Amino acid sequence: MLEQARQLLKHYYGYGYFRKGQEQIIQSILSKQDTFGIIPTGGGKSICFQIPALIFSGVTLVISPLISLMKDQIETLEQLGIPATFINSSLEYYEARKRIEACKKGCYKLIYVAPERLDSEEFKGLIQGLSINFIAVDEAHCVSQWGHDFRPSYGLIASFIKGLDRTPTVAAFTATATHEVKNDVVRLLHLKNPNVFITGFDRENLCFSVQKGIDKEQFLLQYLEEHRDDVGIIYAATRKEVDKLYETLYYKGYAAARYHAGMTDIRRTKAQEAFIFDDVNVMVATNAFGMGIDKSNVRYVIHYNMPKNIEAYYQEAGRAGRDNEPSECILLFSPRDILLQRYMIQNNDLSDERKQLEYKRLQTMIDYCHTTNCLRKYLLGYFGEEYLQDNCSNCSICADERELLDITVDAQKVFSCIYRMGQRYGISMVSQVLKGSNSKKIKQLGLDGITTYGIMQGYTLQQIKDVINVLIADGYLQLTEGEYPVIKLREKAGAVIKNQEKVLQRVHRKMEKAEADFTLFEQLRSLRKKIAQREQVPPYIIFNDSTLREMSEYCPMDLKTFSRIKGVGQAKLEKYGQQFISLIQEYVKENFR
Ligand code: ADP
Repeated sequence: MLEQARQLLKHYYGYGYFRKGQEQIIQSILSKQDTFGIIPTGGGKSICFQIPALIFSGVTLVISPLISLMKDQIETLEQLGIPATFINSSLEYYEARKRIEACKKGCYKLIYVAPERLDSEEFKGLIQGLSINFIAVDEAHCVSQWGHDFRPSYGLIASFIKGLDRTPTVAAFTATATHEVKNDVVRLLHLKNPNVFITGFDRENLCFSVQKGIDKEQFLLQYLEEHRDDVGIIYAATRKEVDKLYETLYYKGYAAARYHAGMTDIRRTKAQEAFIFDDVNVMVATNAFGMGIDKSNVRYVIHYNMPKNIEAYYQEAGRAGRDNEPSECILLFSPRDILLQRYMIQNNDLSDERKQLEYKRLQTMIDYCHTTNCLRKYLLGYFGEEYLQDNCSNCSICADERELLDITVDAQKVFSCIYRMGQRYGISMVSQVLKGSNSKKIKQLGLDGITTYGIMQGYTLQQIKDVINVLIADGYLQLTEGEYPVIKLREKAGAVIKNQEKVLQRVHRKMEKAEADFTLFEQLRSLRKKIAQREQVPPYIIFNDSTLREMSEYCPMDLKTFSRIKGVGQAKLEKYGQQFISLIQEYVKENFR
């Protein structure tokens, strides 16, 4: 049966080999064992249930949490030539019935269903007599209260399956699962002696970086300037911040959209579609955006604020590079982010026990921002996976080859000034005293009389603030909570004042651009966009970036060579092959003859 699976992989998807884990998962499902696959985003989990669905007789039910995700997956399947449909609350009864009747006649191999449907008597009535041999539960972590996307309706799945005439094989899939979540998935979905496959959480194509003590807006604008043609997501913690950033980008002429829960449904859908269809290439959003977004060509995800925990971070950052092309995940950290996240936990309607857990999770996120070791190792370690290499060469710590800057003397000046000011003031006042500002307030308070007044006058006010932010981020100083945060010295600063320890700082190093800008690649991209507009589907559903890149490298000029390109299956070959080949032929004629 595996041979058949391989043939289907080539025929429908145009891929020659299964990826790590896919083969074992498919084999387990085909031998009718309940299966639990934990595969990182972009690892290729869809194929793990779609191929068995093609092999099994009858129909496969795919339980998927979001309507937008469903629509996307069905469009992708249609493009591949795989007969599939979906049932959710957006359909009228007669339409749902029509689809199920078509299933009974064997017109579809897969039906995607929203979990809410499972409770509906209407739905249960409709599927009477339908031969369901296999159920795939997508985003299975939604069943767990400990996960970041808990959905009560996932609790209906087990009893629904139990109520079926025949017990189907069940497979659950998720991209992220801590120990608690893993146990919950097996327990709450009633998986029977499941084979569990963890293919590893590492996303080798993602470059992780943390930037501290920087002017975030300036960093962002410079980054966007250098990546104008790339597609990316910028996450900010609050709606207000999203609006502010969006406006800044809009007035600077970027093709940006925004997305947050404060907008109307219509505006949100419009923004999401503009992004999916490549009409805009920057999405500024809160964490409300993303689930259900399968867009594969996201080249960067920038977190303008630190998120609430590592799971949320890995999930959001993981939306970059689903096509396995090099992509960046950049977190811009400032100590204020900690205050904001604490505030959000404090004011959340959670039990005390849950709040404590959330504080603990927040701390692991803060530690990520402060670690001086490999970021990849840290992230994988959080998910219980050991990363065996010392240096991943693809995170801001491992790839940072500059010498460290010794800022011990500046740090001593800052510490001394804070101490002399009685540890009662915030960043702005301390910076002004160090700069030697003539402000009336400083004079009134008599702060111009202390010995550290003006000892950093050679620096700009912003530079002094940047140094202070680095010292906070590195744990030498602490910013108190409340509306007017005050800086205090932490124990770690003591050793520096006594000259027992040095303070070293790394400044931002420009990351290499993720991809070269090939003319042919750009032309192929325009053709893809044109076809996508005509067919009203997102461009990446036609072909993903890595397939276009292979075309631009190998320049296939006939159907046979074109069919060897990774990502070109039979249906797409027939539908689009000639159009792309003509473009390539034209390009080669103009440029090489
Ligand atoms: P996930 O749902 O795990 O995030 P997808 O199923 O969307 O990932 O797959 C991510 C990308 O990887 C898709 O573009 C898919 O076509 C591609 N892919 C999946 N399996 C393979 C494979 N065996 N060889 C090459 N590409 C693959």
